[in-house]
Amino acid sequence: MVNKKKFELTAVDLYPEIMNIYGDRGNIIYFKYRCSLYGIDIRIFDVSIGKGEKEEYGGADIFFMGGGQDAEQGLIYEDFINNKKNILTEAMENNKIMLAVCGSYQLLCDYYKSKDGKVIKGISLFRGYTESKTPRLIGNIAVKAGDFVLAGFENHGGRTYLEKGQDILGKVLKGHGNNGEDKTEGARTGNFFGTYLHGSFLPKNFAFCDYLLDTALKNKYGITLGEAVKIKGVGPVDNDFEIQARKDIKDLKKFV
Ligand code: GLN
Repeated sequence: MVNKKKFELTAVDLYPEIMNIYGDRGNIIYFKYRCSLYGIDIRIFDVSIGKGEKEEYGGADIFFMGGGQDAEQGLIYEDFINNKKNILTEAMENNKIMLAVCGSYQLLCDYYKSKDGKVIKGISLFRGYTESKTPRLIGNIAVKAGDFVLAGFENHGGRTYLEKGQDILGKVLKGHGNNGEDKTEGARTGNFFGTYLHGSFLPKNFAFCDYLLDTALKNKYGITLGEAVKIKGVGPVDNDFEIQARKDIKDLKKFV
């Protein structure tokens, strides 16, 4: 018998029709799926170019933004600075969550210098910069990030160099990561996460998805995911399919 106690989260997907390369929309789809497994309600707002409505942002608990080629990054960066920077800065300061992938991750840094030399300014929530070089860094990637071993797929020309003191997401076990040189991958400030892992990322990393859900519930209701599950009276979740899918990534087998 599922308890009628209601837990509801609000999620925003930024520029979903523009920044969604390699199926990164799968992150918010999978986050919504994991919420449904635990009896957590979720409202999703797709927000693209323009100011959007206060309702969409005001109570947002988690923001998603996918990857994009240089052209798409060039399409959105001015709007990202003018219409999203202040909202995301406030959200980060209030311990809200963001998952930014590849081209979006690059725009959370100071700037991205594209392959044709155009400097695309970012919103500097992560301290660092990216410059596009050849060859592109492509392939399956495994990353040790705290208690997690993250699996994904990367495809980027950009090499990201973070300032000293900027936290990383994790250390590369296999693959390229931020720049193919220093074995770092991604960035983290508070509960804002930047990563080069496409895949989509969250379906390949269900435990990290539950960590984001747990963090959102702690922020909003002061309870853990485990406590919410007990209150809701929902049963244990079957992760066999996800576990097998990770094992099926042949060249990551010995890492994940
Ligand atoms: N255009 C950026 C690069 O090539 C980001 C690509 C992406 O989002 N996959 O590095």
